[in-house]
Amino acid sequence: MRRPIIAGNWKLHKKTVEALELAREIVRLTEDCTDTEIIVAPSFTVLGKVSEALSGSRISVAGQDCFWQEEGAFTGEVSPGMLLDAGCTHVIIGHSERRQHFGDTDATVNRKTKAALLSGLSVIVCIGETLQEREAGETLSVIERQVRGGLQDICARDIRKIVIAYEPVWAIGTGKTATDVQAQEVHSFIRTIVSRLYSPTDSDTVRILYGGSVKPDNIRGLMSCPDIDGALVGGASLSATSFSSIIRNSK
Ligand code: PEP
Repeated sequence: MRRPIIAGNWKLHKKTVEALELAREIVRLTEDCTDTEIIVAPSFTVLGKVSEALSGSRISVAGQDCFWQEEGAFTGEVSPGMLLDAGCTHVIIGHSERRQHFGDTDATVNRKTKAALLSGLSVIVCIGETLQEREAGETLSVIERQVRGGLQDICARDIRKIVIAYEPVWAIGTGKTATDVQAQEVHSFIRTIVSRLYSPTDSDTVRILYGGSVKPDNIRGLMSCPDIDGALVGGASLSATSFSSIIRNSK
């Protein structure tokens, strides 16, 4: 049995007052949603305050990225230990916006993932193909390269602390969602790769989230797919009402 996860990526949104208001409202609206694991990923500057506001609730906090070094002359970076210190239990690594605008590659995703795991964080590793790659028929080869590259040399014990988020780049923030069939095909393929890299048991237990314009009205269809275990939500996680509806509809 894989427990569903709904994670909200707040991206570059919400300063302190709004972030705290959103966090408290999500707690209020999801108090009875005990079947689903809930994670929010606020921006770095409000992580500590949001973590404090959520302490005692069932909602976990994630960083949106981290660096692979714990400390040193790396201006502007945030280390896994700093995320832990701010109250995070998770970190998102390899989001397509990091890959697209900030130079993340499979190799840096792998370094960041290893460093985060070493510090004790759980990692949400994001992968996904661009529209051009899908149209060229390269979706599965891109996904395989990203899974193998992102997870390179990560041992079986650590794979249990990893959640994979399949986010087709063409569906992020565009209002276009992959159809349930398109998403299921890729999720099932990811599970096959995990089985080959680790074991059938690990592939059965690893949770694979879908991300890309998830809304309260499309989550049910996605969750009905056998290999979809939840969602990484961007835009719709910025409103407590829509985020909590997604959580409710994910069961
Ligand atoms: C995301 O940021 O990971 C995402 C899926 O965004 P959106 O839900 O807005 O498409």
